[in-house]
Amino acid sequence: MVRTRFAPSPTGFLHVGGLRTALYAYLYAKKAGGKFILRIEDTDLERTVPGAVELIYRTMHETGLVYDEGPDVGGEFGPYVQTERKEIYLEYARKLIESGDAYYCFCTRERLSDIHDKGATKYDKHCLHTVSREEAEKRIAAGEKYVIRQNIPEKGTTSYVDLVFGEIKVDCADLEDNILIKSDGYPTYNFANVVDDHLMGITHVIRGVEYLSSTPKYNLLYDALGWERPQYIHLQPIMRDAHQKLSKRHGDANYEDFIAKGFLKDAIVNYIALLGWSPKDNREKMTLAEMEELFSLDGVSKSASIFDETKMRWLNSLYVKEMSEEQFYNYALPFYAQYKYLEGMDLKYLSTLLHSRTEVFSDLGKLTEFIADFDNFDVSLFQNQKWKTDSALAAKMLPELIKLTETNFENLHDSLVSYAEGAGYKKGQVLWIFRIAITGSASTPGGATEMATLFGKEECLRRLERSLKKL
Ligand code: GLU
Repeated sequence: MVRTRFAPSPTGFLHVGGLRTALYAYLYAKKAGGKFILRIEDTDLERTVPGAVELIYRTMHETGLVYDEGPDVGGEFGPYVQTERKEIYLEYARKLIESGDAYYCFCTRERLSDIHDKGATKYDKHCLHTVSREEAEKRIAAGEKYVIRQNIPEKGTTSYVDLVFGEIKVDCADLEDNILIKSDGYPTYNFANVVDDHLMGITHVIRGVEYLSSTPKYNLLYDALGWERPQYIHLQPIMRDAHQKLSKRHGDANYEDFIAKGFLKDAIVNYIALLGWSPKDNREKMTLAEMEELFSLDGVSKSASIFDETKMRWLNSLYVKEMSEEQFYNYALPFYAQYKYLEGMDLKYLSTLLHSRTEVFSDLGKLTEFIADFDNFDVSLFQNQKWKTDSALAAKMLPELIKLTETNFENLHDSLVSYAEGAGYKKGQVLWIFRIAITGSASTPGGATEMATLFGKEECLRRLERSLKKL
């Protein structure tokens, strides 16, 4: 049975690249009728950020990437948190020492930097050649600090077939004897990923391309322990542009940032799926369930993909359009709450006006800011070439429009039209002047009477009077 895993380190927010890895691992397992596992890789204690694990659980849950096994849901291959597995790694490291595939190393930081300064590009196997097992064990028993290193053959090549990149072959001479167990007794990623992927029965390892070239070293560990190697699927990075990777530093590479900007989770997941994969029929809008059907490695790209926020906005707008009025309103409420000037307004009605104009929910600020800016608007806005209107005409019309609003607010549209007919104006002229006079903006999320309904009679009158005074 296919078993894949997502193995994040809890170092902060879940960035887009990580979420994509999780998504592909999830899709690959689901498509094959297999299992998807969450494992927390927290052995780098200094990089662990409090709260990051909970954020991972929450994001996976919210986005629908339901894992079959994981720290908070259990499973028969647990524990699923690496710091809780410390003893397991030590046990296998000792086996590797037994077989000569690993050794104790006591080199000090000074010695390491010294050989580095003298031109060494990798560790020189000093302790392998100079410290016997017995001596090493004595020194350890006496309390000396040590690490355990992988003993990589000095000659030969090692290769494997990546399911995206094809054959990867390296000379052993180019590989360093990496540390497997650190002096604090915790494993490095280099060791823990192998032990865990094996013990958790992972059949397909899906992860970032930065691990493509260290995978030969991991394979040597599988071989040394007599374990079957998994299949590998490495993924190219997501780029900000042709040169730069999307990075946490830019502050817009995280799932949470996009949610805060008003993107919908389904649209985020959908867009992220397209960053490095496309289905055979090249369709772009897909639900998670559809992706589970369509996912296939043939569609996974060998080249990096560029994150295009404009495209993501477009995709998001399709999801926004699909929302019911009720859903739109409920989703918009916390965004409305950010704008004081919307207090007391009929937000349900406002939502019906904004729905078709919203690509992402943070647009609601831009789309409504005219409401707050009204008092400072520029009367030159009355000027309109198409309708041949200007502020002189507005000054003439406004007293009549005020009267109409007072007496016929319930029937405003028809009254404005018949006023235009009676006074010999074009309908568009009256509606333009009326709309500018109550909104102070040429672009509003609705026509004159919709804006009037939004403000209500009292506020409309206040605005009309105020405009008249400006002229
Ligand atoms: N903990 C590693 C990371 O966050 C996982 C790499 C892997 O999936 O093997 O990059």
